[in-house]
Amino acid sequence: MTATAPARLRHLVAGTLRASASDETIASVNPSDRDDVLSLVPVGDATDVRLAVEAAQAALPGWRDTSGPARARLLHDWAAVIDARAGELADAMVREVGKPIAEARGEVARCIVLLRYYAGEAVREIGEVIPAQQSASLQFTLREPLGVVALITPWNFPLAIPLWKAAPALAFGNTVVLKPSELSSFTASLLGETAMAAGIPAGVFNLVYGSGVTVGEPLIECEAVRAVSFTGSTRVGARVAALAAGRNIRFQTEMGGKNVAIVLPDADVEQAAALVAGGAMRFAGQKCTATSRVVVAGAVEEAFLAALRRQVEGMPLGPVTDPAAAVGPMITAAARDGVSRTLVEADAEPLFSIPVPANGGYERGNFLAPTVVRGAADADLAQRELFAPVLWVLRARDVDEAISIANGTRYGLSASLFTRDLRSALSYIRRIEAGMVRVNGDTTGVDPHAPFGGVKGSSSGSREQGPAAREF
Ligand code: NDP
Repeated sequence: MTATAPARLRHLVAGTLRASASDETIASVNPSDRDDVLSLVPVGDATDVRLAVEAAQAALPGWRDTSGPARARLLHDWAAVIDARAGELADAMVREVGKPIAEARGEVARCIVLLRYYAGEAVREIGEVIPAQQSASLQFTLREPLGVVALITPWNFPLAIPLWKAAPALAFGNTVVLKPSELSSFTASLLGETAMAAGIPAGVFNLVYGSGVTVGEPLIECEAVRAVSFTGSTRVGARVAALAAGRNIRFQTEMGGKNVAIVLPDADVEQAAALVAGGAMRFAGQKCTATSRVVVAGAVEEAFLAALRRQVEGMPLGPVTDPAAAVGPMITAAARDGVSRTLVEADAEPLFSIPVPANGGYERGNFLAPTVVRGAADADLAQRELFAPVLWVLRARDVDEAISIANGTRYGLSASLFTRDLRSALSYIRRIEAGMVRVNGDTTGVDPHAPFGGVKGSSSGSREQGPAAREF
């Protein structure tokens, strides 16, 4: 990977690139090579936010009155631009957030699907006719856009999450201001470029960089902002929800997880081990849906752990530019060091870990050894989202105890169940407290056509993607 001079980003406001009100910047650094600085990200402030929201508000009447088919054409054009720049966009994610190239390419492909799906939604019906009490009346409902929508997004899916919020918002006639994570702002800047290249009208899609405190909160507080769609940690999501509720505007918060796989005695152990290993370790466990706990019920534990170890040992750590790479680095050295310390102090029985090579370039990246430990269900590490390649193994006597352990956290995003008995599976999945449950599949991966979201501390309840985005 060759380091190039860092790009100095500028906010995208009303279709033009604007210097920040303040000169302050933070460096965006390659997690695989801390010597490689990609960009200098402006630390925006309330002035930058105000200008972007004013631009979004000014663009609203024109965009709201643009016909559904015309909006659909622009979303199709956006998909085509992304398709044409797919390689560059994937490379940006590899370099900025350390995403293995195969997954980065998959994320770009998903963005194209998302845009085409919502282009289709833009031309569907926008209300219903309801029989009226008086026969001479025509009674109908009309869906209308909310107005200016604030999008606040995390770093781990730097293209897909901004797009799965922006595409439906735009399809249904809203204008948006996106505040991406400071750690993925370079990739967000390329997304802004593709929107402009596709001809999305000035002011319809705006982008302001900066921290949650300097940009995120002022954005939610802006009078003209009528809704907030947030994805990130449960801690920050609670703050976002409180601010939005205080203003009585609509919000959705999709948050953290402590996702579980349950392996039942009749499971195909080799298949379960392969999918649990992938769900736990790919992209260094930094997906909201990553498998961070596995509950093994009954007598299969020994066979499962042996198969799991073979699978994890077979997953290349990096370099992330190699199509075979599966794991990759953690986002920052501070995050890696924090998890390392926690593991040393944890009340856990280490089962195995795959050491990070001491040289060969790995020493310049934020790599953490993929680690599997066993311990109690109520231990701190079995309860807390680590966002790291760490899997916590739990034992259960039977399926009832396994489900009870699985449900014993404050989170409820995704879960998986491994069994050959599909009849029982259909009853067990209803007892698992998670927004999404897969049978004989891993906890990660989302189908852009299906509603996505969690329960309990993982979500405020409204769903994203698929037809659910329209309801929000
Ligand atoms: P954070 O919660 O730290 O940040 C998310 C976004 O919120 C960032 O843009 C951040 O800005 C911003 N933010 C921070 N503080 C505030 C605030 N006070 N007001 C408004 N906005 C604020 O999450 P991460 O970026 O670290 O992402 C990882 C987390 O996201 C994990 O918990 C993961 O589970 C979750 N996630 C959930 C998904 C889901 O769909 N359920 C999908 C993907 C990730 P900045 O960081 O620039 O300051």
